Amino acid sequence: MDKFYTNTVIIGAGVVGLAIAKEMSYKNNEVIILEKEGKIGQITSSRNSGVIHAGIYYHSHTLKAKFCVEGNQLLYEYAKKFNVPFVNTKKIIVANNEEQIAQVQAIKEQAELNGVQHLEILNEKQVNQLEPLIKSAGGLLVPSTGVIDQHSLMQSYLGEFENNGGMVSYNSNVKKINVMNNRFKITVVDKENNTTIIECDNLINAAGIFASDIANTIDGLDKKYVPYTYLAKGNYFSLNKKLPIYHLIYPVPEKISLGIHLTLEVDNSIKFGPDAEWVEDPHDYSVNENLKSKFIKSINKYLPDISEDMLSPSYAGLRPITSKEDRVKRDFTISTFENHQIENLINLYGIESPGLTSSLAIARYVAERF
Ligand SMILES: Cc1cc2nc3c(=O)[nH]c(=O)nc-3n(C[C@H](O)[C@H](O)[C@H](O)COP(=O)(O)OP(=O)(O)OC[C@H]3O[C@@H](n4cnc5c(N)ncnc54)[C@H](O)[C@@H]3O)c2cc1C
Repeated sequence: MDKFYTNTVIIGAGVVGLAIAKEMSYKNNEVIILEKEGKIGQITSSRNSGVIHAGIYYHSHTLKAKFCVEGNQLLYEYAKKFNVPFVNTKKIIVANNEEQIAQVQAIKEQAELNGVQHLEILNEKQVNQLEPLIKSAGGLLVPSTGVIDQHSLMQSYLGEFENNGGMVSYNSNVKKINVMNNRFKITVVDKENNTTIIECDNLINAAGIFASDIANTIDGLDKKYVPYTYLAKGNYFSLNKKLPIYHLIYPVPEKISLGIHLTLEVDNSIKFGPDAEWVEDPHDYSVNENLKSKFIKSINKYLPDISEDMLSPSYAGLRPITSKEDRVKRDFTISTFENHQIENLINLYGIESPGLTSSLAIARYVAERF
């Protein structure tokens, strides 16, 4: 059995694990990412909307509000500096009746409390001028929303990390963690079932939907500090034709999710989703064709001329969620010594949306704790 030592281990090469690794690699050149897949970003980080969120919905005291607003600005600066493709599309939340206009007004007030600027309430005519195909009774224009090519972003984080001497160990499945004499002893199994033991001083668990499973293998960590991770599946359908729509279009949000919205890729192609459904299986990414009618019903509220034959099943992602409370009340959980009393260990749970947007802000926050 092979055995070796490194200063810092990060579990998971998703967008958040990579951002943290890059940040940590400026402090220390012995940082390793352990990733069970053969490539970076194969799980939730390539199964999302790719939206740079503004940070408008979350309660002001939450980590989501803090990291999303900070992360939005950091991400635009980063993308410009490192030539990561992005488009500052802006977004319109569309109301379809008077009651929803009041809801949109409340979103604006919350967003301003969070520090989001330049929001604009639009009447029906103004929405129509910006997006002639969209039907609404009015809406909210959010200028700091955009889309980013998340694969290029992750490659860029990886490049910076490797330039600083960091290394990713692929096909490395973390099975068990022991805590001994202020060091972590990590049991890793590869595809051929070979076992390696890695010892380190600092350990960061950024394993996304599997973060709770990994934390539950840490001996010495009281399980009362490990939240259960629920999974909310989000499916996407792509539109088979190009349409002259240039803003992201969102309905007024629902209780579990932001509602089935229209998102653009950086090449301006259109997709719809995600919906939200509680599931158990962490490996089922199939998209059920029968969901089309539900999608069309939602989409037609703001885009009337779309029919089922124009949609194709695209992909699905799983949101890791630590509480089944209302969407606005749920938060990221970043569990540090103050919570679990083990030094130099950080577990990240429930890093659902807006995790991509927040990646650089989360990375700074985590790295400051070492
Ligand atoms: C449907 C959907 C839409 C979303 N839309 C947006 C959006 O538009 N904008 C936004 O900001 N955010 C969005 N998000 C959230 C965003 O995608 C996530 O917050 C982000 O990708 C989480 O990154 P991560 O690195 O924490 O997790 P992941 O990308 O899941 O990475 C975790 C990594 O850990 C690895 N791993 C797991 N277990 C082990 C193990 N035992 N050993 C070794 N490695 C392991 C996995 O293989 C994986 O590579 C969306 C999420 C979903 C599901």
